[in-house]
Amino acid sequence: MDSTQSSKGTKIECLLFDMDDTLYPMSSGLNMACRKNIEEYMLHHLKIEESEVPKMCLDLYKEHGTTMAGLKALGYEFDNDEFHAYIHGRLPYEKLKPDPVLRNILLSTPQRKIIFTNADKAHAVQVLYRLGLEDCFEGIICFETLNNTPLEPDNYDDKVDSSLVDSANFYLDEPDEFGLFTARESIDHTHSDVSAPKSRILCKPSQKAIEAAIRIADIDPKKTIFFDDSVRNIASAKTAGLHTVIVGSSVLVPGADLALSSIHNMREALPEIWEGEEDQLEPVMQSTAVETVVLA
Ligand SMILES: [Mg+2]
Repeated sequence: MDSTQSSKGTKIECLLFDMDDTLYPMSSGLNMACRKNIEEYMLHHLKIEESEVPKMCLDLYKEHGTTMAGLKALGYEFDNDEFHAYIHGRLPYEKLKPDPVLRNILLSTPQRKIIFTNADKAHAVQVLYRLGLEDCFEGIICFETLNNTPLEPDNYDDKVDSSLVDSANFYLDEPDEFGLFTARESIDHTHSDVSAPKSRILCKPSQKAIEAAIRIADIDPKKTIFFDDSVRNIASAKTAGLHTVIVGSSVLVPGADLALSSIHNMREALPEIWEGEEDQLEPVMQSTAVETVVLA
């Protein structure tokens, strides 16, 4: 891991995790089910031509970080909460099983641990609950965290002055019933300016979204390791100065310091996380270590 070698001696203080397809494998089927729901929404609610939907769905996801963000950027108007409820409400969450191996790994790490997902809070809470990881993280930075204020569309793109974003709109609440912090409330800005032709969504891989997450979590990117399965998110995170790990890949991608085929391999691949913690490890942790296949 080049960057951690060059920063040898720099203590890692925070682990920042994407959630979907990072904390559980793509093979769970949730990703495909989610895409199918999005395509149905585009077809039935936005009346997009059926033959165009699959390619458009994928292209917008790649270009904007989420298909939802891409649809908004194109000028489609719909309620954010309704969209999230439609695409996540019918997901086969039962396919996600408790992951005690990952749970033990996470609980053994001395660093702050934070989720940074483009998904909405309800989905994040559901996924973490199903994985048995609901108490492993200090907080969640999610859709509502980054999109809780009706910023004017003209101000709301990658050219926006970061001080505008920083000044009033991003904050964390006290931990909620799940012990998680998220935005205090979600403000529906679909109706805030009905004449607005576009409503931009702030999400990864936007540089502004990653910088906002860094400010919200109050972390030092040089002392933070970021885990994500998205090639574009990894590239943006590296530009923001984070140490980066591409998850679910056996090969390095541009901007990645390390590739992990599974998040389960982090103990073997990133021993620096536990540096100085050896004496505190519980025996159960050592016995549950997973074989590592790491290409770095
Ligand atoms: Mg992901």
